[in-house]
Amino acid sequence: MIDLRSDTVTRPTPEMRQAMAQAEVGDDVFGEDPTVRALEEETAELLGKEAALYVPSGHMSNQLAVLASVHSGDEVWAHERAHVLSNEQGATSVLARALPRTFTDPEGHPGQDLLERWATGVDDVHRARPRLICLENTFTGLVVPLAEQRRVADFAHTRDMRLHLDGARLWNAAVALGATPAEVAAGADTVSVCFSKGLGAPVGSAMAGDAETVRAARRARKLLGGGMRQAGIIAAGALYALRTNIGRMAEDHARAERLAAALTRIPGLDALARTNMVLVSTPEGAAARYARAFTEYGVGCVPIGTELVRLVVHLEIDDAGVDEAAKRMEEAAGSLG
Ligand SMILES: *Cc1c(COP(=O)(O)O)cnc(C)c1O
Repeated sequence: MIDLRSDTVTRPTPEMRQAMAQAEVGDDVFGEDPTVRALEEETAELLGKEAALYVPSGHMSNQLAVLASVHSGDEVWAHERAHVLSNEQGATSVLARALPRTFTDPEGHPGQDLLERWATGVDDVHRARPRLICLENTFTGLVVPLAEQRRVADFAHTRDMRLHLDGARLWNAAVALGATPAEVAAGADTVSVCFSKGLGAPVGSAMAGDAETVRAARRARKLLGGGMRQAGIIAAGALYALRTNIGRMAEDHARAERLAAALTRIPGLDALARTNMVLVSTPEGAAARYARAFTEYGVGCVPIGTELVRLVVHLEIDDAGVDEAAKRMEEAAGSLG
């Protein structure tokens, strides 16, 4: 199986395992794990924030950012397909008891008109208080231009709102833009980054922000049962990934282009590369059927909606893997007639 379902399917390399085996550890609930501390400090530094917190998942880091930013009943604005609202079991409503408000702009960032409209009448006694805007970069592989991000951040800050950046694939955005991670994170009050997706670590994400917000998130992490003991073992994998694997993501992006170019030649299909993802357009309503056929022919993928099939290139896929995947997918498409 050439597994292109996600960039989370990678397994730690021997070098990463060695770094994990040799990690210095301590009890991180007491703040005594030197490897976790090193990971948190390097992550904060890289993102240009005061502090960072290591957490088991991106889901948790997103929700900690929400918990640290809003009061019960406040509005959280995000894209209708944003992970924080659509893929975390409604946690913003369950945990922070926030009121989600969703925009639908295909580029992933809300237009200025909509922002202005949603921000009018906030003093009306009937109205929930808008408090947090969430953006994703990348947004399903799509790079959100930094100027748009800055516009939304500036808007938030003039309205006493905060910006959370879900940067599960922020590293991909930075590499694609030729920007530093700190430049991508600039303007966001809180940022979530992932050490698994694309970077190849076995476990974990981090939430970064100012020291006070990260202190609040550290308390909330304990509330949710996310305090970990000798977490340096897994943090060492994340630290190794952070130090080693950001630069090589350019290869993933090039391979996504290569795969998309090959798939576009298959009759009936179109394909588009976005950073490390390839989105294959199938005839309307046929996404699930194509995804099943691709899988049967040995290419792991996931249907998105009724028309798209998603493939994600990652560090276990080389050029030969891309070419083989394209060949199998062509056969699979042919089998559907
Ligand atoms: C994967 C992902 C998450 C959640 O990360 P987990 O570690 O799987 O909980 C959050 N946001 C985005 C944009 C993601 O792609």
